[in-house]
Amino acid sequence: MKFKVTVWNENLHEVENKEIGKLFPKGIHGCIAEFLDKAGMLTHTATLREPEHGLSDEVLNNTDVLIWWGHIAHPEVDDKIVEKVYKRILNGMGLIVLHSAHASKIFSKICGTDTGTLKWREDGEKEILWVVNPSHPIVDGLPEKIIIPQEEMYGEYFDIPAPDELVFISWFEGGEVFRSGICYHRNKGKIFYFRPGHESFNAFKMPEIQQVIINAVKWAAPISSPEFSHGFADPIMKITPSGDFPGVTNRGES
Ligand code: ZN
Repeated sequence: MKFKVTVWNENLHEVENKEIGKLFPKGIHGCIAEFLDKAGMLTHTATLREPEHGLSDEVLNNTDVLIWWGHIAHPEVDDKIVEKVYKRILNGMGLIVLHSAHASKIFSKICGTDTGTLKWREDGEKEILWVVNPSHPIVDGLPEKIIIPQEEMYGEYFDIPAPDELVFISWFEGGEVFRSGICYHRNKGKIFYFRPGHESFNAFKMPEIQQVIINAVKWAAPISSPEFSHGFADPIMKITPSGDFPGVTNRGES
């Protein structure tokens, strides 16, 4: 099966800052789409300043997994688009939230909190991502730890609801720790937040980091979920009320 992935990016740092433009000549979205292409996925990219932020109904309806990178322009994202993305997630589309998108509108909506706050420091220090969930599909083929030579630090307390699954914990040279790989389930949708990926460093070019994102796409892709009905329900089998308690059914034999 070919996974259909849409990589969404603000695409502002790359355009506005020459150094970052040099690091990511095709944008962060282009860099991510490239390694997903090589992994055999059908990729599409979308950016903030396109009409509807590049996320038309047609694009969303043809997306198995949406990847989201944002940083300085979260407020520019139209609430109506966020609502559409959220509904697609509830209906089965996967979402991978990268790095500073912890403060994006869509991740806040998933978390049910407007804050998503954390500590940060841009000193280019070493980060070690430790696998803490060895049977999780997202760690398939990885070593027990990934060492990133230079990254921005994110530190706890990260103000999020307790994750459904915790996959990675990071250690930083300056002493902080962080829950760097976390999963949530919302109705039929699966969501993975992954911490690395600051715009002025090279984490997305590391094979191990790419492997995590490739694995996360496979994990977050929709399955053929059952269709559920809600509200008033007719009984599946005939109910025989005992008559002892009017209005209460009792099928037990005593
Ligand atoms: Zn950053």
